Amino acid sequence: MTSASLPEPTVRSDPAAPAPGSGGLVDRYGRTATDLRVSLTDRCNLRCTYCMPPEGLDWLPKVEVLTDEEIVRLVRIGVEQLGIREVRFTGGEPLLRPGLVGIVAAVTALHPRPEVSLTTNAIGLARVAPALAASGLDRINVSLDTVDRNRFKQLTHRDRLDDVLAGLAAARGAGLTPVKVNAVLMRGLNEQDAVPLLDYCLEQGYQLRFIEQMPLDAHHAWTRGEMVTAEDILARLSAAHTLTPDTEERGSAPAERWLVDGGPATVGVIASVTRSFCGTCDRTRLTADGQIRNCLFAREESDLRTAMREGATDAELADRWRIATLGKLPGHGIDDPSFLQPNRPMSAIGG
Ligand code: SAM
Ligand code: SF4
Repeated sequence: MTSASLPEPTVRSDPAAPAPGSGGLVDRYGRTATDLRVSLTDRCNLRCTYCMPPEGLDWLPKVEVLTDEEIVRLVRIGVEQLGIREVRFTGGEPLLRPGLVGIVAAVTALHPRPEVSLTTNAIGLARVAPALAASGLDRINVSLDTVDRNRFKQLTHRDRLDDVLAGLAAARGAGLTPVKVNAVLMRGLNEQDAVPLLDYCLEQGYQLRFIEQMPLDAHHAWTRGEMVTAEDILARLSAAHTLTPDTEERGSAPAERWLVDGGPATVGVIASVTRSFCGTCDRTRLTADGQIRNCLFAREESDLRTAMREGATDAELADRWRIATLGKLPGHGIDDPSFLQPNRPMSAIGG
């Protein structure tokens, strides 16, 4: 696998998505956003090195955070008027949101029913997994960067590995399968954990995916040269396992997948930086304070919260969302000399 420069966006032809002009979230390059990421809070109970400084961040004032009703209203507009077909709740840590189960239940009751998933660090999941499954949650992704207790503590500044592993097992027990595990490797910190993580996931029946670290840390410490690339990750895994490309259709899914030791188990690598998938991006994002972002790396946002609180109708909010989508750039531009990291860190955008 070699490093590739940013590809030109291709026009996605998705017959089921609303056609441009008839209501969908279509950008100037012909991409249609059908996958909505909703950040439910910017707060978190871990301090992952690549995401948040140990002392935490200045949290959003409570008054600026959308209420449960406001979140459900905006998601409903997305689903009913804008062609959203998948909704993923994230954060910060979404399990910290007291109304999470009710929000999931309200969103799975929408028509047409979207696929609903959750990205979480799994702390507290052991308790809430059955209620989430009962509320209609379809899938869950758990972030875990090591299965070594000391390293977990070093990477997250909290001694909570056992809670995470219990949360994973509870998700599997509640039928939230396939349970996916997302891992980020950092040079000199947890590269050696790649193979033990894969072995653990194989043993437990979880689907592991590695994600290249992106310049979205609050402390702006990311450097291109220090990043553990997809190529590095594959080299490490290949030293212990035989990997063969999984030829199943990838579509707009960002993970490239490999069969492990002949399959059926797979491992994925999301090469967000070195093999960008911007050309087939189908995502749009809503922050916990009601801003639409057309890209993780966007430097502009569209404020739906203020408009909504000033009495905007559903149709007006949908129009604002469409306009926000039009301005989506062709790619993240991380390799451009002029690249500027967005003002908000990952935890405040919603990863
Ligand atoms: N707290 C939840 C969790 O950790 O799963 C949800 C929010 S977290 C921001 C979502 C995902 O973003 C996690 O899988 C995390 O590993 C990933 N992430 C955070 N900062 C990142 C970065 N700088 N580069 C790549 N992935 C990052
Ligand atoms: Fe919290 Fe998730 Fe960021 Fe880790 S990656 S600090 S769990 S928001």
